[in-house]
Amino acid sequence: MAYQKILVAVDLGATTDRLLTAAKGLMDDSGSEMHVLHVVEPINISYGADIPMDLSAIQDEIYEQASEQLTQYCQSYGVPESQRHLTIGHPEAEIASAAKRLHVDVIAVGRHARYGLALLLGSTTDGVLHHAGCDVLAVHVDQPTEPS
Ligand code: AMP
Repeated sequence: MAYQKILVAVDLGATTDRLLTAAKGLMDDSGSEMHVLHVVEPINISYGADIPMDLSAIQDEIYEQASEQLTQYCQSYGVPESQRHLTIGHPEAEIASAAKRLHVDVIAVGRHARYGLALLLGSTTDGVLHHAGCDVLAVHVDQPTEPS
């Protein structure tokens, strides 16, 4: 049975097309609904207590750019405005809570090749698996490079 409601969490990077294409492949033409979410991570860096920096203008700019990119991707894949979601927060938690709020059957996320320190830090996909109350599809979106 095909999934009826899919949430695709996109980082808007180079592998986003591959993830959206794979997610589309899960859909049943007769009525599956694809929701697409991007989470803008908050900038909360300050350069010491004496010189706090107001980063709200930069945050707004990042949000605007993300909004434009999300719109472009969603238009290409025929995702209507009501199924596009842009939030600010921590990706793992935001993805899991959007999935619950939208009552999706499955979350699609990208699985990237990881080496060295990145392996220790863990991925957003690991966090989503931990938090999600529904199925999670981790799509291998990039080719591992052969160690030389
Ligand atoms: P990473 O933790 O960078 O390996 O990302 C793994 C996957 O998590 C990505 O391919 C996306 O599916 C998802 N993801 C990461 N960051 C975000 C984000 N800011 N918003 C939505 N999804 C994200």
